[in-house]
Amino acid sequence: AVPVALVSGLSRAAGTGVLVKGGGALEALAKVEVLVVDKTGTLTHGRAHLTSVAPVGAIAERDALRLAASLDQASGHPIARALVEEAQARGLALAPPLEVREAPGDGVTGLVEGRRVNVGGPRLMRQQGIDFPLPGPAADGQGGASATVLVAVDGSPAAILRFADPLRHDGGAILAELRACGIARVVLATGDRREVAEALTAGLPIDAVAADLDPADKTKIVVEERLRGPVMMVGDGINDAPALAAADLGVALGARGAAAAAEAADVVLLVDSLAPLPGAIRIARRSRAIAL
Ligand code: ADP
Ligand code: MG
Repeated sequence: AVPVALVSGLSRAAGTGVLVKGGGALEALAKVEVLVVDKTGTLTHGRAHLTSVAPVGAIAERDALRLAASLDQASGHPIARALVEEAQARGLALAPPLEVREAPGDGVTGLVEGRRVNVGGPRLMRQQGIDFPLPGPAADGQGGASATVLVAVDGSPAAILRFADPLRHDGGAILAELRACGIARVVLATGDRREVAEALTAGLPIDAVAADLDPADKTKIVVEERLRGPVMMVGDGINDAPALAAADLGVALGARGAAAAAEAADVVLLVDSLAPLPGAIRIARRSRAIAL
């Protein structure tokens, strides 16, 4: 029989916008000690906006933007959505991308109007054998805190796009609240560059920053952290799905996040916010105390 306290805990969690997938998940929620948290779309809103376009090759800014946005129509990444919206706002006519391949967390590759286009981070360019000179943090007018997206066309660097993706306004307060309800260690795990991650999260109650991670690296961080105690991994993207599954408790942002993340998770936040998390932990701890 399912203990009454568990059932009432589950339904109370549901009332706060948290979907807990069963009694096992509620118990894991009560025990977590380490938080591994994703950046883009999780600690940030994932409602990025384009702040600058720097053409780096022979291609005009408009064309680089149009080709990149055409390709990124095929991606569900928060930055891809921002790029498509910006291109449409500029009145650029987007073409349908062909032969699209997405490397989750790295970027996308495909054909647009017969041209080979790559949009993503430095790892994608390395995988594609494209020598893309990276702008140093000093050249970054945003103090390094903006997401950088590289665009290559026909195997050559074409443009560097920068996106501002601000932190959730309550992110610091929620991390502090999580620490107050028993999370002893917080690790940021991001696919983004270290300079960007560190600049963005300076001042937040975070113990360690792991950057430049692909989905397998994120999973490795979770597995390593589990040696310290039960791990809760919180994320929104396809690139987080394996890490969510590897954690003692995976938590997905369901409202705007990827379906693959919600499927891999044990707990789904139904609102586009981390705010219900501390309350859900408290409910879980209380239900467990009653059920014991
Ligand atoms: P996080 O792990 O913090 O959620 P991501 O790995 O999802 O971050 O994104 C970090 C970087 O990955 C972005 O700054 C961008 O360079 C690159 N990226 C990944 N996928 C895409 C895409 N579809 N379009 C553009 N950029 C992408
Ligand atoms: Mg993310």
